[in-house]
Amino acid sequence: MNEYDSSKMADVLGKERGFERAESAEEADVILLNTCSIREKAQEKVFSQLGRWKKLKAKNPDLVLGVGGCVASQEGAAIRDRAPYVDMVFGPQTLHRLPELYDSVTKERKPAIDISFPEIEKFDRLPEPRAEGPTAFVSIMEGCSKYCTFCVVPYTRGEEVSRPFADVLTECAQLAAKGVREINLLGQNVNAYRGETDDGDEADLALLIHYVAAIDGIDRIRFTTSHPVEFSDSLIQAFAEVPELADFVHLPVQAGSDAVLAAMKRGHNRQYYLDRIAKLREVRPNIGISSDFIVAYPTETDADFEATMDLIEQVRFDQSFSFIFSPRPGTPADMLADRIPADVKSERLSRLQSRIREFQAEYSEAMVGTVQRVLVEKVSRQNANQLTGRTENLRWVHFDAPVRLLGEFVDVYITEATTNALRGRVVTDDSAVA
Ligand code: SAM
Repeated sequence: MNEYDSSKMADVLGKERGFERAESAEEADVILLNTCSIREKAQEKVFSQLGRWKKLKAKNPDLVLGVGGCVASQEGAAIRDRAPYVDMVFGPQTLHRLPELYDSVTKERKPAIDISFPEIEKFDRLPEPRAEGPTAFVSIMEGCSKYCTFCVVPYTRGEEVSRPFADVLTECAQLAAKGVREINLLGQNVNAYRGETDDGDEADLALLIHYVAAIDGIDRIRFTTSHPVEFSDSLIQAFAEVPELADFVHLPVQAGSDAVLAAMKRGHNRQYYLDRIAKLREVRPNIGISSDFIVAYPTETDADFEATMDLIEQVRFDQSFSFIFSPRPGTPADMLADRIPADVKSERLSRLQSRIREFQAEYSEAMVGTVQRVLVEKVSRQNANQLTGRTENLRWVHFDAPVRLLGEFVDVYITEATTNALRGRVVTDDSAVA
């Protein structure tokens, strides 16, 4: 989401004030820091980065320095208490107002702060999307209304708001016309999407997926990040009916113990999650599944953690984004006494991650000798004669191929699996695969 927001900041300043991206901070007239406050570490990095840029401002007093994103949203004017040389503070929902904020800094010579939540106005103001390669993110909803006890997102990005159905489809069609072949529908809880249709009805994510799949040129669809509670039967049915939907899904579970799930206020228990996965595997037996985990939530006992490990054994996840619980100011979990020793926290995290890495390696090994559909994204960094693309289950594959295949789907016979990627050779009509 932050990557998407950053590219929109560049787009809106480019279109409305003629800015171009600078090669380095030293050459820039404006420097924007797009921040994340999901964990404490990310938040702390903000002030050390600002400290480095302060020196540039000493050399060039006209330099405009802005802080956007969720730390800005949470801290507001307090950013300037700690870093008074910051000129603009804006939230994820006001990035489209950057041109006006910039004007008020340069013309009125005063700092500009806007961390309000004007909801959907943002999308109406953003310029037509640019395509940078054959894959693109399309934001379809913003914010979160789930209020999990550990999470800061509802307070920094606001409650769930969906973009109108037709607006999303128009953006996807514009991207397809620019050569985009894969769309990643984006939102904090993307399956909470409830977009208004032109006739006043409401479309859910499943319906949206059907319509996006019907756009000429769009041959692969992903969505991220979903929430188990709204992982509806209609969405599972879309996996049965829409071949463009990639055979891979990211479905955060956070923990495998009912007690911890309840303490986190996730709104579902362990069995519900397992049932959703079972239902999904009925229609897509080989679907890859990744998840988010928080280890050492303050109430997590050894037995709770073992329940998470057991869930991992049952689901056999292919990937994870997993972190030690980080207390976030203003969230209910921040009030809980944290009695888990630091070494226990790191030991739990490393056990969890290494088990999932083993599954990941097994899945990669099993792909050797199969033919995979790969969307060719770039020239390989290690070898200029090789191209690199992604499989449906998000593996990078390197293979010899002419550059004319950039941006196309090709079938690749997988010959080798390494820790971080696969190798293979393109299957052409006249080449045998074995
Ligand atoms: N739809 C997702 C869900 O079902 O929760 C929301 C994704 S959330 C924006 C991103 C991830 O950051 C969460 O899934 C969680 O694992 C992690 N996260 C959020 N707050 C955290 C905290 N206080 N400490 C550690 N990790 C956190």
